Amino acid sequence: MEKIIFHIDVNSAFLSWEAVYRLAHKGGREDLREMVSAVGGDTSQRHGIILAKSIPAKKYGIQTGEAIWEAKQKCPHLTLVPPNYTLYDKCSRAFMEILKEYSDVVEPYSIDEAFLDMSASCHLFGTPKETAEKMKEQIGKRLGFTVNVGISTNKLLAKMASDFQKPDQVHTLYPEEIQEKMWILPIRDLFFVGRATEKKLRSMGIYTVGDLAKSDLSWLKGILKKQGEILWGFANGVDLSPVLAEPIENKGYGNSITIPFDVTKEEMADQVLLSLCETVASRLRADQVQIRVVSVGIRYGDFSYVSHQNVLYNPTNITLEIYKTACKLFREVWNGEPVRHLGIHTARAKGERSWRQQSFLDEVDYEKLSKLDGTVDAIRSCFGMDSVMRTVFLGHPIYHMSGGVWRGSNSPL
Ligand SMILES: [Mg+2]
Repeated sequence: MEKIIFHIDVNSAFLSWEAVYRLAHKGGREDLREMVSAVGGDTSQRHGIILAKSIPAKKYGIQTGEAIWEAKQKCPHLTLVPPNYTLYDKCSRAFMEILKEYSDVVEPYSIDEAFLDMSASCHLFGTPKETAEKMKEQIGKRLGFTVNVGISTNKLLAKMASDFQKPDQVHTLYPEEIQEKMWILPIRDLFFVGRATEKKLRSMGIYTVGDLAKSDLSWLKGILKKQGEILWGFANGVDLSPVLAEPIENKGYGNSITIPFDVTKEEMADQVLLSLCETVASRLRADQVQIRVVSVGIRYGDFSYVSHQNVLYNPTNITLEIYKTACKLFREVWNGEPVRHLGIHTARAKGERSWRQQSFLDEVDYEKLSKLDGTVDAIRSCFGMDSVMRTVFLGHPIYHMSGGVWRGSNSPL
């Protein structure tokens, strides 16, 4: 039997959420969604990037992920608002809760997107299209923001469908509609085709999704290897991955995060890993345990998942030591494709011991690092999680202690 899969995507999530919040709680009269506006990191920082933009801002060519100074060049009168992760976290949870009223099988794909397997429950609400309309209406009525819903028989096609005309729309992309609705799209619109891949495909004479779908698979594989095969499958609407209700629970100490933008640079990945290590290591210390195994998990935009682990010479619960290992593992396993989800897991936890096997090659003063961590923990437990943070997180889009979906601070950074 064919499945019924929905992909629900909040329109300009961060910006919509901020707009709704301002209208409802701050007595705002202006709706950011109707203005040339964007959410961006600290404008005084060189690193600030655009995290979300309004539809009017999109008309100026402003893109998510680009530097704030670039966006300002395109549009000097752009209204910029700072990110507020606490708010996003609340909105995301409320959004996911509504989705769970429609299906037991809800897979959050990022903070503002989810896949639903509606095969078993759709008939309770009506046809797929009626159900999607109902869902969209409910979200609008109860939470005040709009979503796009894509309907199909697998995740890929549902995701492609939700990306058709925006905002506030329901679209279908059933296998029999692929030719008419998907093959006409420029190749860059195909899921998982980044800028580099687009360039490569165009140089091969492939300009539309249809061109790719009809091209010779062995020729493609010869040039693009495994990626060629995946993309060819996508262009033909093939995706066998199931909707996964909840990430598999890890018994050890771990943490993972779905990132609201594609991570394409090592430095950005490092920062996400550091924020995850902050939370994991502080939990280890709170429980007075040390771990021997560190593993890093990466989920790519095409839903594929890889992980890689390392056994440490000495058990540890030092943030920086776990972080260094995580960075090394990331570099060993990352294939360079955009990353959507990053996780760190640890294993072989045992009660803390105060001594460590010294190596002649050690240049690090572990005792000092351990004391530093203890002091930071003590300050945080007295004055709150945001009372002390590494300066590397100042003005960056990544919250300094990541966990769950997004956990944010109310600090004005
Ligand atoms: Mg979205």
